[in-house]
Amino acid sequence: MRALTYLGPWNVELREVPDLHVVGDDDVVVEVKFCGICGTDLGIVSGTYPVAVPGVTLGHEASGVVAEIGPAVTEVRVGDRVVINPTPFCGRCRMCRTQRINHCVNKHGTESGVSYDGAFAGRYRTTSAFVHVVPDHISLEAAALTEPLSCVLAGVRKIRPPSLSAFTYVFGAGPLGLLYAWALSLSGLTPVVVERSPARLEFARDRLPTGTRAYASLDEARSAFFGDPKAPLDVVVDTTSVMLEPLFPELACGGTFMSIGLKRQRASIDTMLLADRSLSVIGSIDSLHGSFVEAFHLVTSGRIPTGRLVTHVLPLDDHRKGFAALGCDIAGQAMGSTDEASCKVLLTPGDGDG
Ligand SMILES: [Zn+2]
Ligand SMILES: [Zn+2]
Repeated sequence: MRALTYLGPWNVELREVPDLHVVGDDDVVVEVKFCGICGTDLGIVSGTYPVAVPGVTLGHEASGVVAEIGPAVTEVRVGDRVVINPTPFCGRCRMCRTQRINHCVNKHGTESGVSYDGAFAGRYRTTSAFVHVVPDHISLEAAALTEPLSCVLAGVRKIRPPSLSAFTYVFGAGPLGLLYAWALSLSGLTPVVVERSPARLEFARDRLPTGTRAYASLDEARSAFFGDPKAPLDVVVDTTSVMLEPLFPELACGGTFMSIGLKRQRASIDTMLLADRSLSVIGSIDSLHGSFVEAFHLVTSGRIPTGRLVTHVLPLDDHRKGFAALGCDIAGQAMGSTDEASCKVLLTPGDGDG
């Protein structure tokens, strides 16, 4: 089978690797149909998120069809359409026992596609607890966004708004920004999205939950959405990694700034304001206990139309095109913005007809 292998910054290669088969009794081998390119992948490839193990197969937002099962597996059958939870946890360590499975000490790094082989490959091997059968009425494209939604729900759990009327802003209208808009909306808040790219803004406008809007700048959002150019910043979710320093002095008392971008970026903040204004600066990565199941429910119940966030579906051969659509020029070794209306880009390592 073929696998998109990480060798080092700006150095990824589509390689022929041995096919994966069941090894353990509880193993499930999935023929991968769709796997999304995540901001994490852009960070790994461009070297700004230096965590991937050289030689590893990238890709962690995947769905597919079960190809083989071990003798002890009872939950899924060969031929089942499934979504993959790429973030293993042991359930026994101190982190797992204290609600922090995303920092399980026994998972040897972060997740599949970063610390060990992921799903930009013909096949992916996991165990039965980490696949969920997708109902017939949900496409495998839409299901592939379960993992990023799970990360978003984990982040939303950490945000404690002072009130459901809190003035809430999401910076960036990429997949995570839009999923945050949906998840915050379902939690009762009314977020406004700020996106500088005209193409992304246009795409986002049509795909937001009822009552939510997207604007090209914070000023415009404040005036047009809240009717006040000085509208307070009660809750800010930053998917861009660059807003903490400029916005910190403006946070409303009791406000929360959530940073979820995995881009190395330094910020200088006044710690006196942190205490004096009762501010919270928080971050979030990966899934928390139960968030994957919650995300799966929101996808399969249609509460969050994740399939509508997909802009590109490309064969694995065209992975460079997929990365380029997200501003990551692998051949030119440059990370920049893109004029394309790109949101979630899916690659199809198998035949993509699931
Ligand atoms: Zn991801
Ligand atoms: Zn653990």
